[in-house]
Amino acid sequence: MIICANPKAQYLSHREEIDAAIHTVLDKGRYVLGDEVRLFEDEFAAFCGASHGIGVGSGTEAIHLALAACGIAPGDEVITVSHTAVATVAAVELAGATPVLVDIEPDHYTIDPNRVEAAVTPKTRAIVAVHIYGQPADMPAILAIARRHGLKVIEDCAQAHGAEFAGQRVGSMGDMACFSFYPTKNLGAIGDGGMVVTSDPALAEKAKLLREYGWAARYVSYIKGWNSRLDELQAALLRVKLRHLAADNDKRRRLAALYGELLAGTPGITLPVERPQGRHVYHLFVIRSDRRDLLKGHLDAAGIGCLVHYPVPVHRQPAYEGTGFGSLEHTERAAAEILSLPMYPELPEADVQAVATAIREFA
Ligand SMILES: *Cc1c(COP(=O)(O)O)cnc(C)c1O
Repeated sequence: MIICANPKAQYLSHREEIDAAIHTVLDKGRYVLGDEVRLFEDEFAAFCGASHGIGVGSGTEAIHLALAACGIAPGDEVITVSHTAVATVAAVELAGATPVLVDIEPDHYTIDPNRVEAAVTPKTRAIVAVHIYGQPADMPAILAIARRHGLKVIEDCAQAHGAEFAGQRVGSMGDMACFSFYPTKNLGAIGDGGMVVTSDPALAEKAKLLREYGWAARYVSYIKGWNSRLDELQAALLRVKLRHLAADNDKRRRLAALYGELLAGTPGITLPVERPQGRHVYHLFVIRSDRRDLLKGHLDAAGIGCLVHYPVPVHRQPAYEGTGFGSLEHTERAAAEILSLPMYPELPEADVQAVATAIREFA
């Protein structure tokens, strides 16, 4: 059996360091928003090339909080994609805003800047650019549109810790950026967690207040906030894993290159396309086939676990009907053809070979 993602393998490969970090927290007796969170915020923000980090409860919360910190409120429109984890759109709704979902670039699966431009109205206040699968969106184009129309740009980096566009890390380009530490992400906790990063001190301050009841000092709310805190256990473990993140991303890239070599020229199979200026960190290795469901069945039968990220575009899901803007042709085609192959840093090369052989057999 070959599985698609394997967070336990990551624990096992750094077991002693992680166990020690966890026991330190247990012994110290401070369990929420303490030294570990503060240090992790500083270290992770620095890793991203940003100056402030605000640890929060999840990636969804990070996006919700970032939008709220930017002043996005009911009546405002936020442009993002339909081809994403539903969390991106859920967070826009949590902020009280109206999601306007546009199409993607067919090769890169990220938001199409031309579609963004066409969707701007007088109510538009922000763009959420999702760096899907580990590939950065076309940030220079997005930032140029935002400047022309006076919009905020929020990066959804939940699948792209360490990815780069023209040498700049994701998380350092928009007004604010949001990360998830869900266990299977490139930097994964042993539970839920997230972070907002920014280099704007005023936005950082606002996000910090919002995540804990609007408190500037204990028990006095200066603005209306809520509770979205990161805990010390997660932060301590994430500090350990952060030290290995660059090497783990390199391993993902090597495995992706191996898949690329083994699958090149396979009839009916389209491989992922990297942006020339981008550094893809392969949260997911996503191929395409116009016989996707049959291929998935073939791989399932061979004991190879593959997933579809995502089978139903958000605007086609019952809860979000009517959020699509214009033709979402590339989004809909992708949903029918994409397949995520097993990908995690500890995945043995022999497993990559077995997966490639099974795909070639099918083809
Ligand atoms: C995982 C994910 C999120 C949400 O993160 P959670 O921590 O699960 O709330 C948001 N956006 C994208 C693109 C994701 O992959």
